[in-house]
Amino acid sequence: MKLEFASIASGSSGNCIYVASSHTRLLIDAGLSGKRIEAGLNELSLTGYDIDALLVTHEHNDHVDGVGIMSRRYDIPVYATEGTWENMPEKVGRIKPSNKNALYSGETLMINDLMIQPFAIPHDAAQPVGYSITDGSAKITVATDIGHITDEVKENIKDSNILLIESNHDVNMVKSGPYPYPLKQRVLSDFGHLSNDNCGKILGDIITDTLKYIFLGHLSNENNTPMLAFETVKGKLEAEGVVVGGDVNMYVAPRYGVKRIIRI
Ligand SMILES: [Zn+2]
Ligand SMILES: [Zn+2]
Repeated sequence: MKLEFASIASGSSGNCIYVASSHTRLLIDAGLSGKRIEAGLNELSLTGYDIDALLVTHEHNDHVDGVGIMSRRYDIPVYATEGTWENMPEKVGRIKPSNKNALYSGETLMINDLMIQPFAIPHDAAQPVGYSITDGSAKITVATDIGHITDEVKENIKDSNILLIESNHDVNMVKSGPYPYPLKQRVLSDFGHLSNDNCGKILGDIITDTLKYIFLGHLSNENNTPMLAFETVKGKLEAEGVVVGGDVNMYVAPRYGVKRIIRI
């Protein structure tokens, strides 16, 4: 059996990641309009009816905008931490009580044949989490919106075969860029977003032969470019003797549009 991964959207204008086994299909976040999520699923030859569960990382709009509509339209169970449930923005609307499920960081959860491991991430939301998902043979981890790397994050991303990790910004672009000062402070804080440099550094620290695919995600539109993120992270990996394109495949998850499906 194989696990499948595809990025439907990644960035501050919307996040939605597809992870599936042959029996179970999940979406991690649904932070764009129902229409755009459906268009993304259609590109994967799927519809909302094929989705078995929706896992939410945290309550920010770019992660939840389409959660309510997708759950209501296709009767999809939604999983989130209690803190995320309590802070879900109003416009998500009502979700059927039987589709509301609480999960807890550090506690594994089974959805059919998939084991889900939510883990706490440092970010300015109520109770944000990343997710590791395994069928027992392969492991996929999604970790974005991380202010800084903690031991818990490190522990969960290592041993992944496919990793979507945040490479949000170039620190100098933030500092010299157009954001107002408080927003700059927020992005750069320990509970904001992960820079290209820090992304590369953590990858250099944790990488082993197990990691086959890296997706750099949640890139800032104003303070990064796909090329800059890629080259910065590649430089850090090469400094550790890792050949990008040889030892590991690396891609940038686009803001819009499906990044091709990977099977592992
Ligand atoms: Zn976000
Ligand atoms: Zn966020």
